[in-house]
Amino acid sequence: AKKRGRNNFQFFTPELNRVADERLNIEAAMRVALDTGGFEVHYQPKVDRARRVTGVEALARWTHKELGPITPDRFIPVAEETGLILPLTLAVLRQAFAAGQRWNRERQSPLRVAVNLSAQLFLTDDIVGHVAGLLEQTGLSARQVELEITETVFLGDNDRAVTILRDFKALGLSLAMDDFGTGYSSLGYLRRFPLDTMKIDRSLVTDVEREPEVAMIARAAISLGKSLGKTVVAEGVENAAQFDFLALHGCDEFQGYLLSRPVPEAAIDELLAQHAAI
Ligand code: C2E
Ligand code: CA
Ligand code: CA
Ligand code: CA
Repeated sequence: AKKRGRNNFQFFTPELNRVADERLNIEAAMRVALDTGGFEVHYQPKVDRARRVTGVEALARWTHKELGPITPDRFIPVAEETGLILPLTLAVLRQAFAAGQRWNRERQSPLRVAVNLSAQLFLTDDIVGHVAGLLEQTGLSARQVELEITETVFLGDNDRAVTILRDFKALGLSLAMDDFGTGYSSLGYLRRFPLDTMKIDRSLVTDVEREPEVAMIARAAISLGKSLGKTVVAEGVENAAQFDFLALHGCDEFQGYLLSRPVPEAAIDELLAQHAAI
């Protein structure tokens, strides 16, 4: 092997080699899955304070023939490092927009569809053009689509990020800040960027009904979002005590296992047919 600087030494430990091998395997398998329609989308409902379904979040799902289900926590980072995040996101957007159109035909009130966008997509690709093209192809209204982004978008080229977010807004899409409360960047972006929604991270929801400090931080986050005029959504709501606490303190919408796990498209149909509210 070539002589390496001291800082590279750690790359040759067996543990890291094993991790690197797994990544290569996942990458190769992902390429096949992307070519063969192997990625599916599950949908998790969001409800308002009266527990009426207002929309769904699209979440990528992948079951490999031999390896079985592979969770997003394993394949999303690989996709982000290899550039496969673009074709993967386009596959999710295409399925989610088509589902949105189908729900439109079957329901009186439209369901909002949210899709996650990785920060990597803001760096290189014409992501706005891709989203606009898919809206046109499927005929779904931009008003029905929300894009969920994380604070990492603001770590890179801020001017570029602002431009892209403004372009999305100009198309009529809504923008949500995902995982709010886990971040490391300054809060200044809340003023500078055109965000409609703040999603309070699950780490501020878990134990909110039991831990006074978690409760205090969650209340501060909700009140910050509300005073900036955002729609505030809580994620990871697992029990009624959490729902009630968050509702009492001003949360607008709720998402989590209490309401429903992420489910296939057909199961959303059943869920909507059975309950006006869940
Ligand atoms: P996220 O965007 O924060 O999505 C919420 C995650 O929390 C989902 O995990 C969901 O299944 C899970 N969850 C929802 N309610 C509850 C609850 O009550 N309790 C608990 N314990 N968990 C709950 P999932 O589907 O495994 O996705 C994990 C992450 O992977 C997502 O976090 C998102 O960052 C990423 N991801 C998934 N699909 C996509 C995608 O299509 N594109 C991108 N860029 N990222 C995606
Ligand atoms: Ca999300
Ligand atoms: Ca989230
Ligand atoms: Ca999260």
